[in-house]
Amino acid sequence: MPELPEVETVRRTLNQLVIGKTVERVSVKLPRIIQYPEDIERFQLLLSGETIQSVERRGKFLRFMFDHYTLVSHLRMEGRYGVYRSGEPEERHTHVVFYFTDGTELRYKDVRQFGTMHLYPKDQDLQEAPLKKLGLEPLDEAFTFEAFRDRIGSRPTKIKPLLLNQEYIVGIGNIYVDESLFLAGIHPEREARSLSRHELAKLYEAVVRTLKEAVAAGGSTIKSYVNGQGEIGMFQHQFKMYGRKDEPCFHCGHKIEKMVIGGRGTHYCPKCQPLKRRRSKGALKR
Ligand SMILES: [Zn+2]
Repeated sequence: MPELPEVETVRRTLNQLVIGKTVERVSVKLPRIIQYPEDIERFQLLLSGETIQSVERRGKFLRFMFDHYTLVSHLRMEGRYGVYRSGEPEERHTHVVFYFTDGTELRYKDVRQFGTMHLYPKDQDLQEAPLKKLGLEPLDEAFTFEAFRDRIGSRPTKIKPLLLNQEYIVGIGNIYVDESLFLAGIHPEREARSLSRHELAKLYEAVVRTLKEAVAAGGSTIKSYVNGQGEIGMFQHQFKMYGRKDEPCFHCGHKIEKMVIGGRGTHYCPKCQPLKRRRSKGALKR
C-alpha cells in the first residue's frame, strides 16, 4: 500500500505529465470507484471542459486541482495512474479514463478495486469526507516537535496504532512506522504517554527523517506499486526492519522479530527497542 513517500512521488510525476491538460470527457467503467457525487453522469459532466491546474497531496490522498473542482483520489492497495496516447492498448483493470483535448489520456488502473475518487467544488474537499478529519501533515513546516507532542504525547494508546491513525498524523503506514520506531529505539507496544520527552523527540526526528529520505529516494517499490509514469522497480528501498523477520538487526545483530499489533504485522528488534515498563510507584518510594 502506498504511503506518503510513494503518493508524493506519484504526485510529482503527475505534475510533470498532466498540468494544463483539459478534460474532453471521462469514461467510468467501475462506478463504485466514484464515491461522490453519487450520480456518475454528473461526475462526468462536471469534469468535461475543466483544466488541471496542479496535483496536490493531503496525507495519502492525491488532489487534482481543476479550474472549479477538486478531485480527491486514494490509491488504496493497488491503484495507479498512467498517461497514454489515445489508441494505445488499454490494460486490464482500467476503471476510469480521463480523455484530454490534446489526444492523451489519464488512465486509472486498480486490480484490487479498493481505490476511491471524490469530486467537490474547489477547496470544499478539505471540509468534506474523506479529508476533513485528517491530522497533521508530517512534512509541513507546521509539524513541529511541540505540535507532535501535543497531538500524541499524553495518549493511553500503544504508539504504533497511534502513529498509523490518520486522524492524528497523516501519511505514515505500516512500513514507515516500523522504520521510524526502530530508528527511535522505541518498542511498538509502548504507550504514548509512557514516552519521555527525550524519547518523543527521538521519535519525532525519526518520523520526519524516514519520510524525507523516502521522498528524496522517490518512494519505495513494493509489490505492484509503480510511479505515475508506469516505471516499475525504479527504486528498491533497503528497509531496516520491514520484511526482515529473522534477519540480523543492522544496529546490534540481534534477530529481528515479528508480531501482530492491532492487526498489523510489525517488525522490531527486541534489543534495540525494549518494552520498558513504567517505574512503579513502589519502586519510586524505595
Ligand atoms: Zn537491534
